[in-house]
Amino acid sequence: MSFRIGLDLGSTAIKMVLADDYKIEWSKLVATAPGQEALALELVKDAMSARGLGEGDIENISATGYGKKLMSGAGHTVDEISANAGGLFRLSEGRCRTIINIGGQDLKVINLTDNGKVADFKMNDKCAAGTGRFFEQAARILDTPLETFGEMSKMADEPLELNSTCVVFAESEIVSLLAKGVPKERIIKGLHHSVARRVANLLGKHKTRGDGDVWLDGGPSQNAGLLEALEDELLMEVKVLPNPQYTVAFGAAISTM
Ligand code: ADP
Repeated sequence: MSFRIGLDLGSTAIKMVLADDYKIEWSKLVATAPGQEALALELVKDAMSARGLGEGDIENISATGYGKKLMSGAGHTVDEISANAGGLFRLSEGRCRTIINIGGQDLKVINLTDNGKVADFKMNDKCAAGTGRFFEQAARILDTPLETFGEMSKMADEPLELNSTCVVFAESEIVSLLAKGVPKERIIKGLHHSVARRVANLLGKHKTRGDGDVWLDGGPSQNAGLLEALEDELLMEVKVLPNPQYTVAFGAAISTM
């Protein structure tokens, strides 16, 4: 059996998948750092040795993401919007019509055609608000691991209304809320809602027409508190795959089909 390899060289993490035509068979990521090609090739080596594969078992190596041009070893490159669309459409078994992708440093909304192609997209990469970096910064100030934000937020009844979506202002707002003794749970829930409102703005009115499934992907989509806030703000179900950080890499892997 032959496999495909997809590499997503993102702003924050390099993701790698070993895939067949329909699903991810093996995946791993490392933090983005100088020497991206070497880091990515190390992931490929790990996958091949974990599965006992040789070069002849690999049909293609395809790269996407900000760092895709650095991958001289990739036979094919694809832009991240098309890779995201192709990957999520296939993994959702053709149901997805809108993707909300939250990455380390940007936020995207991609609308798909009924054939899983990109119909249109919007991107916010001008500031860190609403991205993984925003949450990482908040986690540092709150001295609370990001991985616990989901449960923490569930413990709060009412989200706190936060005024700042800008990372810099949110930072000083969080500091002053902590000084006033506001529980961290309420602040975290407030952060989730402020990001969810930002996503709702980017999504725009046209999407709430509810004519297709909306899926969330990217690293921060593993935060159950953010998902809950998004569903509250958008008044619709938002679906997430079991391994939502790898959909773009999977899309790259199958992009030569
Ligand atoms: P990029 O492609 O821009 O590198 P990713 O989709 O890989 O972005 O997402 C990276 C972001 O995901 C990081 O900012 C990180 O903080 C966030 N992230 C990773 N795991 C989790 C998690 N379990 N909960 C919340 N956020 C997470």
